[in-house]
Amino acid sequence: MKANIPDAPVTRRGFVLILSSPSGAGKSTLTRRLLQRHELQMRMSVSVTTRARRPSEIAGQDYHFISREEFELGRDRGDYLEWAEVHGNFYGTPRGAVEKSLAAGHDMVFDIDWQGADQVVGKMPDDVVTVFILPPSMVELRNRLVRRAEDAKEVIDARLAAARDEIAHWDAYDYVLVNEDLDESYNALIAIISAERLKRRRQTALAPLVASLMEGPLPRHD
Ligand code: GDP
Ligand code: ADP
Ligand code: 5GP
Repeated sequence: MKANIPDAPVTRRGFVLILSSPSGAGKSTLTRRLLQRHELQMRMSVSVTTRARRPSEIAGQDYHFISREEFELGRDRGDYLEWAEVHGNFYGTPRGAVEKSLAAGHDMVFDIDWQGADQVVGKMPDDVVTVFILPPSMVELRNRLVRRAEDAKEVIDARLAAARDEIAHWDAYDYVLVNEDLDESYNALIAIISAERLKRRRQTALAPLVASLMEGPLPRHD
């Protein structure tokens, strides 16, 4: 039945899917895949950051790269739904796009750290689903950061050193997955999204069907 297809035309408010992990565990890779699956109709929240752009990153698509001064202006104006300092840089989620997308029925992916997740859950608890992504081992995490080849050695060392501070917050999340095999992790995320879309409280659009099932004489079978 059409209504049971998780990616059926949107008839409900969207939710925010928050992905957090230590740097290098695979959030961006998984997010990219979710966005490429067009029928999922996911939108990504593009954060602002004061960090320097990596060679592979596209301004306005991966992040809005801004100066510290611009960041502070936006923060003081209340432009950010949440913000945090991570690895010595500032990151924030622009407020504007979020409410618009959710109201239009699009689920959004947020790639944000535990401090940001905490703030968003506090502000909109009914609209948030949180997923923590663990690496299979610290050796593999380091290998991925090195293989990604986008950060200087000192940056990699600092991110690895910060990994345990992030992992320490894993128990505040709704779901946890170990990103060992990328396809399996991706399928697990699709399963999470599908289940969350089917939650009864998100399916208010089914009320007319339920009402029609409850009224009138029962059909006879002779
Ligand atoms: P579309 O082809 O009509 O969906 O055009 P879009 O401009 O929305 O997307 C083009 C490509 O960019 C797709 O592969 C998306 O997965 C990717 N994409 C879209 N938005 C974002 C974003 O905010 N961040 C990242 N990293 N990729 C994005
Ligand atoms: P994050 O966004 O969490 O910092 P990335 O998505 O940039 O992490 O992933 C870090 C590196 O690890 C990238 O080079 C990516 O291609 C690789 N990677 C991600 N997931 C896997 C996986 N399951 N197996 C092997 N390599 C992976
Ligand atoms: P990176 O520099 O590797 O892209 O991101 C570093 C860390 O900052 C990651 O943990 C990522 O989830 C987090 N991050 C990215 N954007 C935001 C944001 O808008 N808000 C918060 N709180 N964290 C963010």
